[in-house]
Amino acid sequence: MIDEIDRDVFVRIQTDLLVVGDSIMTDRHHASGGNYEDTDPQNQIGGIIPAFSLSGWLRHGMENVVQKRDGTACHPGESNANFRKDDVYSRDLDAGYHPKGECLDEADTGCVIHDLFGGFGNRPGKVMRRPIKFSPIRSSVDYTRGQAEGHYRRLNRNIVSRNRADDREPLRNTELDAVANLDGCWHLSFRELKPEFIALLAEAIDYLDAHNTDFMHQLGGARNFGGGIVNCELINPLYDDHELRRVFDRGKGATNTMNDKNDVWNEEHLNDFRSDLVERIEDGP
Ligand SMILES: [Zn+2]
Repeated sequence: MIDEIDRDVFVRIQTDLLVVGDSIMTDRHHASGGNYEDTDPQNQIGGIIPAFSLSGWLRHGMENVVQKRDGTACHPGESNANFRKDDVYSRDLDAGYHPKGECLDEADTGCVIHDLFGGFGNRPGKVMRRPIKFSPIRSSVDYTRGQAEGHYRRLNRNIVSRNRADDREPLRNTELDAVANLDGCWHLSFRELKPEFIALLAEAIDYLDAHNTDFMHQLGGARNFGGGIVNCELINPLYDDHELRRVFDRGKGATNTMNDKNDVWNEEHLNDFRSDLVERIEDGP
């Protein structure tokens, strides 16, 4: 059954505001001729959201799925690292993690998290997480290539003096890169496809969607300000390109074929893949 699934799958990501710590690459020099004004409503600026924050967010969701099923997940940090907070690391190990790579002693591929995200030296993860290219012009967004509609904005915050005598005198100004009204596809490519990978991805995306206002499961660096609350959904991997595009067409609903594919996906494929996931977690470290 896994043979029917393409190695490229897509996750729909929707968020009103996203601030990623690794900063957003923009093509604003095209739009502004070097005269970028933060507040100009004519800004038509696209860019690229690097995959690092997205990857951490997804991984954390997957770790939770494994732990909910009474498995332990690979700790993301190297076990021989000189952690500044050793007690915090030990506490993580008591709370559903095993030291990174320890699972390799039991199986060649390690645990399912290690298998997907990779580890030491020559062990790339089996899932490649791509950056998301976004554009404010919907007609130029190619969802089948993992792109999104979204607007870049640079946010300015004034930090003012709290002392009454200073009359809110500005102390400094900070700038944040942000993307607003993001809606599009995150493209994941599997170097090797295993049924448990797809089941874990589907469950993690459901989990992240259901917990999208939890502080721990928001995305990026503005979580105290409501940034990074993400609605997400695994787009049915059985859809063809035409159907995938249709998901984003606000004027059109799902076709009968798409609804049939949803039934087949939920009732057959996902159930089948899920039993592989259960087995792997039960067997695993
Ligand atoms: Zn592991």
